[in-house]
Amino acid sequence: MIEVKNLYKVYKVGDTKVYALNGVDFTIYKGEFCAIVGPSGSGKSTLLNMMAGLEKPSKGEIVIGGNHIEKLSENKLVAFRRKHVGFIFQSYNLIKTMNATENVALPLSFRGVPKKIRNEKALKYIKLVGLEKQKKHMANEMSGGQQQRVGIARALAMDPKIIFADEPTGNLDSKTTKEILGLMQKIVREQNQTLIMVTHDNYIAKFADRQFHIVDGKIFKIEEQHHEDTEE
Ligand code: ADP
Ligand code: ADP
Repeated sequence: MIEVKNLYKVYKVGDTKVYALNGVDFTIYKGEFCAIVGPSGSGKSTLLNMMAGLEKPSKGEIVIGGNHIEKLSENKLVAFRRKHVGFIFQSYNLIKTMNATENVALPLSFRGVPKKIRNEKALKYIKLVGLEKQKKHMANEMSGGQQQRVGIARALAMDPKIIFADEPTGNLDSKTTKEILGLMQKIVREQNQTLIMVTHDNYIAKFADRQFHIVDGKIFKIEEQHHEDTEE
């Protein structure tokens, strides 16, 4: 469970103060797929960065699984992220000189997982995202959608409790966008993980179970979406 309580973030830009977050409160439950949706500059990335422990709030609390994230030291935050958090990026961030499976295995090697086990695990997740045929393909031999599947496999292979996705389909066409969102939806549901996605796009946000609408650093509406199987 993730509890965000009375969260504020103020940036000083020269003599002026920018209120990026203006008192945000919500709870996200285990296994939920939530979207934070709002226009550019509304505070989405700031909120995501706070929840991921990448930035400290000016005021307020973030409690994840009983731990106060805002009180953790930098070392503890690094450990928290390694252990519990996965990231999916808009730009995929794959290593171009490695193939699909090696890209998935790489963060496991940073965690000290032995080679044989990390290769098995990487292959398992490559299959899960439907890339068995492309398992040896280099990043630049894959389409954007395939690269994002690798990005998803890479995040999932670490068994994170929480996955943060920042505009994960920002560079994809609408058909591939639907496929990728359907895939993310299905996998996190099966694995009982929590997925928090940031987007400026209302259509994309509708793939989530709940949508948190943010403007000027405030959540003004929480909408629930009932999904049958949206995957095609
Ligand atoms: P979004 O992700 O919705 O586009 P952001 O969270 O990036 O919005 O930004 C929210 C507000 O905070 C914006 O006005 C932005 O300019 C400001 N902001 C974000 N990061 C910084 C920073 N490091 N320094 C100063 N202002 C910032
Ligand atoms: P934007 O949403 O502005 O297009 P990105 O999606 O590239 O930016 O990044 C969103 C957030 O994730 C940023 O706060 C950035 O610092 C962080 N980030 C991006 N790439 C990495 C990475 N490889 N490792 C850790 N944090 C990253």
